[in-house]
Amino acid sequence: MAAKLLLLSAICRLIVIVGLTLHPTDILLVGTENQLSFNRSDIQSASLDFGRMKTVEPMAVLHPASASDVSNLVKLAFESAHGFAVSARGHGHSINGQSQAANGVVIQMSGSRGRWSPEVSEKLMYVDVWGGELWIDVLKSTLQYGLAPKSWTDYLYLSVGGTLSNAGISGQAFNHGPQISNVHEVEVVTGKGEVVTCAEDKNSELFHAVMGGLGQFGIITRARIALEPAPQRCVYVILYVYQVRWIRVLYSSFSGFTHDQEYLISLHGQPKFDYVEGFVIVDEGLINNWRSSFFSPSNPIKISSINAGGGNVLYCLEITKNYYQHSGPESIDQEVEALLQKLNYIPGSVFTTDLPYVDFLDRVHKAELKLRSKGLWDVPHPWLNLFVPKSRIADFDQGVFKGILGNKTSGPILIYPMNKNKWDDKTSVVTPNEDVFYLVALLRSALENGEEALTLERLSDENRRILNFCNENNIGVKQYLPHHTTQQEWMDHYGEKWPQFYKRKMEFDPRHILATGQKIFEPSF
Ligand code: FAD
Repeated sequence: MAAKLLLLSAICRLIVIVGLTLHPTDILLVGTENQLSFNRSDIQSASLDFGRMKTVEPMAVLHPASASDVSNLVKLAFESAHGFAVSARGHGHSINGQSQAANGVVIQMSGSRGRWSPEVSEKLMYVDVWGGELWIDVLKSTLQYGLAPKSWTDYLYLSVGGTLSNAGISGQAFNHGPQISNVHEVEVVTGKGEVVTCAEDKNSELFHAVMGGLGQFGIITRARIALEPAPQRCVYVILYVYQVRWIRVLYSSFSGFTHDQEYLISLHGQPKFDYVEGFVIVDEGLINNWRSSFFSPSNPIKISSINAGGGNVLYCLEITKNYYQHSGPESIDQEVEALLQKLNYIPGSVFTTDLPYVDFLDRVHKAELKLRSKGLWDVPHPWLNLFVPKSRIADFDQGVFKGILGNKTSGPILIYPMNKNKWDDKTSVVTPNEDVFYLVALLRSALENGEEALTLERLSDENRRILNFCNENNIGVKQYLPHHTTQQEWMDHYGEKWPQFYKRKMEFDPRHILATGQKIFEPSF
């Protein structure tokens, strides 16, 4: 009750601020003692994101203790004569200011007081989590029951609400679909401040709108996520450890590489790998391959000793096989061997390791710690993520990997295919119109004091050239984690889904209050 009163009093102050449109210095005079914070440190951290390319300060930051706190604030923004922008912020790992709220309020969902412990239903194999929960904490909770979510992102320090607002993909997506295909139900605060529970068969229009909806239709305050048994290996009689086998093999031929990737994701109802990804190796070095710690000094051969053939580009297929209670090392050996026999990688280029399941899922965090220790994590990240249709991936390789990129990439380049039938077309996400499409992720870091090739300006220009190349050659790409700056570009992005996207916006956020940092709709205040 006391907390509610504090929030109400803070909101009253906000009404005054909005109503009179005070100067920011006046805002600093307003109290800092409750959930609505005007602290410099809160404002500053909400004004930045992982991309580090754009700083936009909100008026205030809300640390909600519950869905009703979120609802009260959104209602105020919706009902007040002047209105103001409200953006949920998970872990702030966007690239282009998507969770910022110019002159508005950022709702800090991750690490907020609203965080309650995930609640696992062992019987029904799901977990209920707060929208700001980080995936690493979801994993830790569910493993206590021997269970784990089915579909992941490569990095676990992202919020549930943040990844569900995009799609949430990794090497399991070919099999289970993206994370948005593995959610039973969500609780959402709409742009009118209503708290609505929705699912495939309940308020389904809102459910589908919010999945991959870039925060445009509501703020996810709770999600019910599907679980499966976590991979376990019996190490002694009844002693089990969560374990997977992680394998990498190399290719010099792009067509050989994609042929094998596509083969591996086409295996339905038969033995298959549990995770299929891949990456392009243009050159070695920490900043270029920070995800590749796997290639250790104990490797049988050095990557540099492998002849890359025509161009100097190598492709690495990355796969895992889960241990299950019945499968000892021999049966895993046999299954892996049988699958590898069907592939055409460079002989002798197999790198294998068994490791704890958590270490595999949390692998990028290890790389993060390494980069942080060298001051290479908090730098600008002009990332570009594209969905490329299967029929044009070879043209993309010629034009981009072997063309525009040259031999300096400044970050990992991921490439892996997914099956479109694992994506629900009723959601807000757009993907290429082919049965199989690739994610190509150019995860680059700009180093201002480094070589000319690695500057933000240079990398941003390269991104523009890649997008132009795709446009001019009608490659049919769609941006993942999209960034567009005009409504016309957004209309092109959504294509035939635009009328539905627009209609949903008018229904669920008619004043265009939510997630204005995406720059899709002009706020109507
Ligand atoms: P934020 O950046 O805080 O928010 C992103 C958007 O979602 C904003 O518009 C915000 O308003 C909205 N939003 C946030 N929370 C909510 C909520 N509760 N309800 C409604 N809207 C909300 N993505 C993948 O799919 N696969 C990967 O493997 C992957 N790896 C990554 C690795 C790193 C190192 C980084 C930095 C990003 C990676 N991403 C990946 C991208 C990531 O999924 C998105 O950037 C995601 O939005 C980040 O989550 P966040 O919690 O930081 O969201």
